[in-house]
Amino acid sequence: MLRVGLTGGMGAGKSTVADVFARCGAVIIDSDRIAREVVEPGTEGLAAVVAEFGESVLHEDGSLNRPALAAVAFATDESRQKLNSILHPRIGKRTAQLLGQSAPDAVVVQDIPLLVENGLAPLFHLVVIVDADVEVRVRRLVEHRGVDEADARVRIASQATLEQRRAVADVWLDNSGAPDIVARAAEVLWSDRIIPFERNVREHRAVAGESALTDQQVGRLAGRLNVALGGTGATIDGISVSVPESVTEGELDGRLSGAGFPNVDGAYRNADPALPVTIAVTRA
Ligand code: ADP
Repeated sequence: MLRVGLTGGMGAGKSTVADVFARCGAVIIDSDRIAREVVEPGTEGLAAVVAEFGESVLHEDGSLNRPALAAVAFATDESRQKLNSILHPRIGKRTAQLLGQSAPDAVVVQDIPLLVENGLAPLFHLVVIVDADVEVRVRRLVEHRGVDEADARVRIASQATLEQRRAVADVWLDNSGAPDIVARAAEVLWSDRIIPFERNVREHRAVAGESALTDQQVGRLAGRLNVALGGTGATIDGISVSVPESVTEGELDGRLSGAGFPNVDGAYRNADPALPVTIAVTRA
């Protein structure tokens, strides 16, 4: 399975690109949708919210009154944390369930508006960012989605900066032009990079060559290696890792290949066809 993280600022075109990937055959996991599902009427998630914040966060029909909840839950850091401690584990559990149901050869695209803000990038084999100029995004939100302009600007300003997004983006899809331009770019990305990447991960293969990496690319690979080797006592310095002898060869292979660094004839290689590189693994 290949996990792709899809994000971008509000109105950038995440849903538009997710639709293209869905047509290409991706399994889409929409985090906003899950966040709504876990507090639907009748869920124990909604019961937990009511137990914490009271009946005043409900509409008369028993469904969640989001503005009312926001007013009480976002009042203090403490109440915001309480709400997060109710929502996050439930969202995580449902996401894990959906991932668990996906086929071994699936490409799972997780559409996560706050992927950058929440530091989730290293969890994915590939992070795709959709972007458009702020003015273009504001106009689309106002014209197509009926969002209040001032509200759109405040929300956009509270999200990650362009620089923060650039740092985690393996792929940058510009959506300033017509919808078919970004759709075409997403289709090419799918066929030329995502499909072979998924196959490489599944079949423990990689393309030949060594890329000259930028500091940002090194940082992204190091982040993934950190997640893959978390808790093993390994030390990670860029794309060089030192792994304690206590970690068996089998465990090391399993952890690294799952993260997209299969053991190809004795060398751990990045399975991303667009970024061939060898990970230097030594034993401590
Ligand atoms: P996000 O999911 O990132 O918030 P959407 O994909 O919902 O963004 O796009 C925001 C709005 O802009 C939607 O109404 C969408 O139909 C429209 N939109 C997206 N891409 C384009 C484009 N290239 N040209 C014109 N409108 C677009």
